[in-house]
Amino acid sequence: MKQWVKDVLEIQTADMRTKRMNARLKNIPSEKKDILSSLTGEQGKIKKYKDQILASEREIKAIESKIAEFNSKIEDMNKKSAMIKKNEEYKAMLTEIAKAKFAISSFETSQLQVYEKLEAEKKDFQSAEKTIKNIQGEIEASINELDELEKLLQKEINEALEKRKPFLEKLEKSYPEIFPIYTRLIKKDGEPLAKTRNVNCGFCHLKLIPQTLNDAKKGVPVTCDSCGHLIYYQED
Ligand SMILES: [Zn+2]
Repeated sequence: MKQWVKDVLEIQTADMRTKRMNARLKNIPSEKKDILSSLTGEQGKIKKYKDQILASEREIKAIESKIAEFNSKIEDMNKKSAMIKKNEEYKAMLTEIAKAKFAISSFETSQLQVYEKLEAEKKDFQSAEKTIKNIQGEIEASINELDELEKLLQKEINEALEKRKPFLEKLEKSYPEIFPIYTRLIKKDGEPLAKTRNVNCGFCHLKLIPQTLNDAKKGVPVTCDSCGHLIYYQED
């Protein structure tokens, strides 16, 4: 194998690895965002339950004050009824008292219903709080893992870049014509340098013209006639 091929392969291995690592690195922020959004969802639930609890508590208080209002009405009416002389008026007063008592009992019924609702809301709130505690731990662990991965990838990318440096310098010096071709191809998909396969290009699999194949066999840096990728020949 010619030296230029060895050099390009070294550079290419490092670059392909760097590309994969960069792709992984690029996804990390959105992965973190997704993880955190599950927490936001749970926090939203907690807020909803809290609001429901507050509303129920306000409702209970409002009913309580209604009951108190009706009780004091009854008390007033009882006091007044003792002073009423006319039978008709007295009867009417008793009817009013009975009506007020009935109103109180329906207030109490609805208050009981709100209490039951409040109990259920408190349970929902507690279980949401429990869930959030559990997932908070998991989320922290996942975020930490991603932070570590980020650091590791960055470190490995730097190492790969460092490793390719001497080969790149060598290539630039000995084969300045290859360097721009390689630089252009590495930005695209796939490996810039491909091995010939029989009489075909190892990248696009199309047939090479005999001259190109002969040059490749001689170890001359050539590019595929169809896809423009650098090719080299190596006997299997
Ligand atoms: Zn090709």
